[in-house]
Amino acid sequence: MKNLIAFIATGALFVTGNLLFNSAIAHNSATATYLGNEGVMVVHGETKILFDAFYADSYGQYALVPDTIVEAMMQGAPPYDGVDAIFVSHVHGDHFTAELAVAYMRANKTVRLYAPQQVHDAIVNSGVADNTPLMARVFSYDLAPEDSAINFDVDGLSIAAVAIPHAGNRPHIQNFAWRVTIDDETTVMHLGDAGPVVSNFSRHTQHFKSRKTDIAFPPYWFFDDKNGKMILHDIIEADQTIGIHVPKRAAGHGDQWRARLGGDLFTDPGETRNTPGE
Ligand SMILES: [Zn+2]
Ligand SMILES: [Zn+2]
Repeated sequence: MKNLIAFIATGALFVTGNLLFNSAIAHNSATATYLGNEGVMVVHGETKILFDAFYADSYGQYALVPDTIVEAMMQGAPPYDGVDAIFVSHVHGDHFTAELAVAYMRANKTVRLYAPQQVHDAIVNSGVADNTPLMARVFSYDLAPEDSAINFDVDGLSIAAVAIPHAGNRPHIQNFAWRVTIDDETTVMHLGDAGPVVSNFSRHTQHFKSRKTDIAFPPYWFFDDKNGKMILHDIIEADQTIGIHVPKRAAGHGDQWRARLGGDLFTDPGETRNTPGE
């Protein structure tokens, strides 16, 4: 049956050419690659996006992006070449370091960065003047937890964000949950350092239900918290959930950590997961 479908799809392609290409060979799978801490690259077709990929602080317990991966990203070497957009959850040093992000944006002259206002301010404070061409590729949003979601489309990406308060009592930190749909096919959601507080999510239920998420990347502390589990199961309802921000001591022990926390986790930089294609 699979061969027959492939044959029909291929035949149709020859007859009607490119116009049918997208509908005949729809739903490529997407690949998520773990970079370290909450750093993730998602690739779908020709489109590549990064979350929380440029940071320099391990705070003594979180995995940094390995030097080999940092060098490959900076040089635009495969598979880290051709990145279209960078998303930053919040300004903490285990998620974002202005100098690294700026160096990357100078090396990759077309990449755009999407972030909370505090990340924009950190870039300016690092010495990049607000009126430079680089800052024209920095898109920042001053969202508060009560504000409704922002939504916009750019170059094959449908982007949405809500502000979800940071775990613990850190009300001064803007933390965004980014939801990005690539080519109308794959939707991923990165929660940054969100705290597992039901009311912070339930006020945005309409936003979370407005589009199905294929892969959600919550911090791993959602997995051993009653409210965190409820938020993942009842509000976000992603097809696949992969915990991030796992301490670096979990590297090499992923299976034990996944068994103990009862869910999938990224523990070793470089490891990947695929969404099911069709
Ligand atoms: Zn944080
Ligand atoms: Zn963090």
